[in-house]
Amino acid sequence: MFSKILIANRGEIALRIHRACKEMGIATVAIHSEADKDAMHVRLADESVCIGPAAANESYLNIPAIISACEITHADAVHPGYGFLSENARFADIVEAHDMVFIGPTAAHIKLMGDKITAKEAVANAGIPVVPGSDGGVDSYEDAKEVAKDVGFPLLVKAAAGGGGRGMRLARTADDLEEALNAAQQEALAAFGDGSVYLERYLETPRHIEIQVIADTHGNVVHLGERDCSLQRRNQKVLEEAPSPALTAKQRAEIGETVRKAIAKIGYRGVGTIEFLYENGEFFFIEMNTRLQVEHPVTEMITDIDLVREQIRIAAGEKLNYTQKDVVFSGHSLECRINAENAKTFIPSPGKVQDFHAPGGLNVRLDSALYSGYSIPPHYDSLIGKLIVHGKTREGALLRLRRALGEMVITGIDTTIPLLKDLLENEDFLKGDYDIHWLERWMDEQADS
Ligand code: ADP
Repeated sequence: MFSKILIANRGEIALRIHRACKEMGIATVAIHSEADKDAMHVRLADESVCIGPAAANESYLNIPAIISACEITHADAVHPGYGFLSENARFADIVEAHDMVFIGPTAAHIKLMGDKITAKEAVANAGIPVVPGSDGGVDSYEDAKEVAKDVGFPLLVKAAAGGGGRGMRLARTADDLEEALNAAQQEALAAFGDGSVYLERYLETPRHIEIQVIADTHGNVVHLGERDCSLQRRNQKVLEEAPSPALTAKQRAEIGETVRKAIAKIGYRGVGTIEFLYENGEFFFIEMNTRLQVEHPVTEMITDIDLVREQIRIAAGEKLNYTQKDVVFSGHSLECRINAENAKTFIPSPGKVQDFHAPGGLNVRLDSALYSGYSIPPHYDSLIGKLIVHGKTREGALLRLRRALGEMVITGIDTTIPLLKDLLENEDFLKGDYDIHWLERWMDEQADS
């Protein structure tokens, strides 16, 4: 096992990784930008290294500075968290070239899944159902028209290198196709330096359901069920739950088994998430994330498996100590994301936190790096905390989340807590009756009334 891990991230996830390390008797190194010198992850880690100025490009994305920090502190392994360098194949390669372990999949798998065209092809070959669309990339309007003949409209043009919903354009009819193609190509080129696009049938009212997998380096693969992440605003998840209110145990077991077999066939290692759109009882793959997800705690709550601990164990070459049939899904878990943003305008609200009070009680978990007097820097993502609850039933978990949110106090900045409280009063949401467009529709209705 490793004796020291460098955590190449910040905020709540840096803290989450630090906690797993300490419980395993592993020393931690925090890296931080100049703007983060007073951050909680820096305070709690055993050692810390300042790696550059506030701008992420010069600090949390600065590979030479991070590698130097590893060398100065003699770290054995690097945990990238999510975002930043977590899905950067070159970083994984460089870490390993410096005789350290990258806590994640191989660089080859990161690369394969990082390009959505190759990812779709790889998982389809391994038996995972995908959204009908073009066979590989589409270069010209002529090719796009051919695909449209087979697949029909509405069609979505998507960037191979896409992320965060960028490089995506909808063509409702043949008249929109040429413009959608050009716009997606241009946006993808500008955002990712790669203008490759592909076409997919546009699903009108799907849910976003993703399957968590975990694979060791000895050929053992287990799925840990699904998370329903359909409540989104501008492709950003707002509230997640496990299990999905839309699936039966039989459907879960079936899609889980399909994914488990495919991941074994691909020879993947570590934790990963296979994202699907789910409509009328059918699953359609959209992408695979080769890292820990923000919403991983809901899976931990219903399976009692510590995913970060497992990532570290797998990276150290250890075996999973359970098989699929040992995994028990128990009760229901909900997570809501708390952002430092105005709950109506979504304008970021960095600044000094005056009072901070965390909720508590049975089966309540708060993953946050906030403290009273902390100044939230304006340079990074506005996620400041995740409130996670577990209950025996979905109803119990909903009551618990409402109770816990009611106890939470954050003053001095704006947060999205008022929006989450309103959401927890909504009948459709309480019934579990929502798709990926539901939240934006509901917010528009509220804004109009
Ligand atoms: P990104 O990596 O940019 O987040 P994804 O492929 O994960 O791109 O898609 C992001 C979101 O876009 C999905 O969660 C869904 O809301 C929507 N989306 C993607 N593909 C389709 C599709 N074929 N039909 C309908 N909506 C889609």
